[in-house]
Amino acid sequence: MPERGTPWHAERSEAVEARLGGGPAGLASTEAAARLTRHGPNRLPEPRRRGPLRRLAMQFHNPLIYVLLASSVVSGVLSHWVDAGVILAVVVLNAVVGFLQEGRAERSLEAIRRMIDPRAAVVRDGRRVSVPAEALVPGDRVLLEPGDRVPADLRLVAAEHLRVDEAALTGESQAVLKGGGPLAADTPLADRVNMAWSGTMVVAGRGVGLVVATGDGTELGRISRLLRSVEGLQTPLTRQLDGFARQITAVILVASLALFVLAVWGRGYAADEAFLMVVGLAVAAIPEGLPAVVTITLAVGVGRMAARHALIRHLPAVEALGGVAIVCSDKTGTLTRNEMMVQAVVTPEGEVAVSGEGYAPDGAFAPDQPSEALVALARVALLCNDAEVHHAEGGWRPSGDPMEAALVTLGHKAGLDPQAERRACPRVAEIPFDGGQQYMATCHDNGGEAPVVAVKGAPERVFAMLADGVELGRWQAQVRALASRGLRVLAIATGEAPPGAPFTAEAPPRGLRLLGLVGLIDPPRAAALAAVQECREAGIRIKMITGDHALTAGAIAAQLGLADAPRVVVGAELEGLSPEALAALARETDVFARTTPEAKLRLVEALQADGSVVAMTGDGVNDAPALKRADVGVAMGITGTEVAKEASQLVLADDNFASIVAAVREGRTVYDNITKVIAWTLPTNGGEVFAVVGAMALGVALPVSAVQILWINLVTAVALGLTLAWDPPKPDVMRRPPRSPRAPLLTRALALQTLLLCGLFGAGVAAVYAWMVQRGQGLEATRTAVVHTLVAMEIAYLYNVRSSPGGGVGLATLWATPAVRLGVAAVVGCQLLFTYAPPLQAMFHTRPLGPVDWLGPLVAGLWVWATVEVVHRWRRRGTLTPAR
Ligand code: ATP
Repeated sequence: MPERGTPWHAERSEAVEARLGGGPAGLASTEAAARLTRHGPNRLPEPRRRGPLRRLAMQFHNPLIYVLLASSVVSGVLSHWVDAGVILAVVVLNAVVGFLQEGRAERSLEAIRRMIDPRAAVVRDGRRVSVPAEALVPGDRVLLEPGDRVPADLRLVAAEHLRVDEAALTGESQAVLKGGGPLAADTPLADRVNMAWSGTMVVAGRGVGLVVATGDGTELGRISRLLRSVEGLQTPLTRQLDGFARQITAVILVASLALFVLAVWGRGYAADEAFLMVVGLAVAAIPEGLPAVVTITLAVGVGRMAARHALIRHLPAVEALGGVAIVCSDKTGTLTRNEMMVQAVVTPEGEVAVSGEGYAPDGAFAPDQPSEALVALARVALLCNDAEVHHAEGGWRPSGDPMEAALVTLGHKAGLDPQAERRACPRVAEIPFDGGQQYMATCHDNGGEAPVVAVKGAPERVFAMLADGVELGRWQAQVRALASRGLRVLAIATGEAPPGAPFTAEAPPRGLRLLGLVGLIDPPRAAALAAVQECREAGIRIKMITGDHALTAGAIAAQLGLADAPRVVVGAELEGLSPEALAALARETDVFARTTPEAKLRLVEALQADGSVVAMTGDGVNDAPALKRADVGVAMGITGTEVAKEASQLVLADDNFASIVAAVREGRTVYDNITKVIAWTLPTNGGEVFAVVGAMALGVALPVSAVQILWINLVTAVALGLTLAWDPPKPDVMRRPPRSPRAPLLTRALALQTLLLCGLFGAGVAAVYAWMVQRGQGLEATRTAVVHTLVAMEIAYLYNVRSSPGGGVGLATLWATPAVRLGVAAVVGCQLLFTYAPPLQAMFHTRPLGPVDWLGPLVAGLWVWATVEVVHRWRRRGTLTPAR
């Protein structure tokens, strides 16, 4: 940073430019690179993360782990050294696995968030370029537009109606009007209106500023080092599961204590034996590995969504996406391609068709050569316009607003040279386009004569600015005719600016002369067409919310197949409705036309009134409240402003409606997979509890020991359960209605099935136990066989849970996914080690089994698998259709 003399806000702009060396052409990119090495990247220091040690320690901070650690200590005191050691080893192993997985999940989320890091528009080497905000250096010339997040501390050198929301810095919610010359050196921070502070948001107007401080050196860096808080991996669902786990732990502790008392005093067990049994019960009943598996399933879902261009900013959105019942979408650019072309021009002389291809400047008018009236219209459309078209690799490309670029192409076709026209009548003032007012107006120097006003915008708006006496009936009929063909209609008008009159949105131009109408096509995206169909099959309602004309929007909705006969309502009709009436109207309507961004907020609230989960798209500053309010706010990655992205949970990297649908599909899959994981895990615990309680009731030795149960719950169950995180979507995933947000995680059918499975697992354990004992096998061999039985049943049930109800039994099901193959192979390997490797034999008190002994577990596995398949077939619809 250059030597600090006078504070930046007290300097004149020229002096600031001279000190920083960033003239109108901006910095040279070589100079920018040199400064970047000198000053470092423009980013705040990373928020302090929990250090690895602390993160590892947190893995032990869990009531269940306390219970296990206490059991280990007590076992040690009772001189059961091996048990104490094994419990400890398994607990540590579990913590390490949890630690590693959590680290991976956090890193992948972080990587996805980095993909949506802000960019800034700067002038470098005399050209406007977009660079990552991190690459800004002192002296860079930054251009500010509504919706931008100010990327560094700037000294403004130009500002036009620039309003900045400084709440992030000062807490003041009213936006501040910026601009003006040097201020007194002692002006307080909040009043330095010629500065724009890093982290604040531009809500209106335009500005140009020179970077005076970056990263740590900014005011934001000074006041806070912790602004970007690290987000945890918690979601409502995982919190619910954690709560559930805590409750279970408490219940089990009480039950275990009672059982201990009963065993020692009631049945005369020795205290240490009773203790080991009770630990066995506690360990058996708790699904230790479940929370980790659920978190990983969510993280896998986030990765899959990113691959489909849907970037999740907050983990809970994955769950919400799975339950989306209504998607409110913009039209232009999201459902349509936003590749515009003028297809018709209507002047007072009549309609002229315009031919051509995209933005290429060649095309013809039919009938005839362009008339004088048409050329006059095209000229005004060029003046009231900020876009350009240029030839690049692969054809003609627009830069700026695509609709304005289409008007530039029209100018070319009418034989005009856009640059020359703009040079001949330089712009002296403007009212920029705004979604609320739906027009744009510019004022131009006309070489000594009265300044010329050029206006384009929504016909209703422009008609209201015309001189009295214009016969509007015919024009309105023309607007309807163009709009019902699905064309987007603009009216173009011109006039003279009265000398000295203000030129602002508060005092819009009047007394104008209408030059005519322009009809533009913006074809629907092919992918959106398919996605709309997919939504309809999936019972998801789509609401198109657009600023466009009702007839245009209705025609496009029909082309997209949004509804058989789309019902269109215009924004004005929503005003003054009671919340109930609005909710009813919002539910039945497919297209909301001529809506202002403010109406979006009311619509979201109305649609949420009956508890539906609503996704809403947006891109502008004014969309932020609606995006925040929606269950899933969806911002456009390409055209969206930083403000909109910060307010959203999901960012579409390609602005495409189809990506929202892909994300919903993945969201549903994640939910299905979590349901599968839970349904799959619980019977194992049920079977184990059955075994422990049964043994206690009969007064016989436990069929599995506590450490063996831990082995199953923490080693094999996690390895197998994890494989479900990678399960592909079920074939019917988008052919069933959205899940009700009130539906429990385990539906009644699934809960019943879980109970049935608990019974099957219990019976399997009992049968193999009895069989081994009856064949005169010792306790240790019997327990080894029982562990194999539980694992075999787990593997078998894994295949049941994965197959769609009533689906095939063929080899494909058996071959499954790579994750399943790997998981099953790993578990089989572990089981062999568990049985035959001497160290593990010593730890877990296992014995090698003979070939016949293996038959028990094998038959039990097959038995579980076959029973569930038969029940599925018998119930026809099956019980494994996940929660609705
Ligand atoms: P969506 O909200 O689906 O993207 P949209 O792009 O049609 O819809 P807006 O951009 O708010 O919505 O535009 C609303 C209306 O304002 C348009 O129908 C058009 O008549 C007018 N309009 C749009 N862009 C401009 C512009 N650059 N200059 C003048 N008028 C415009």
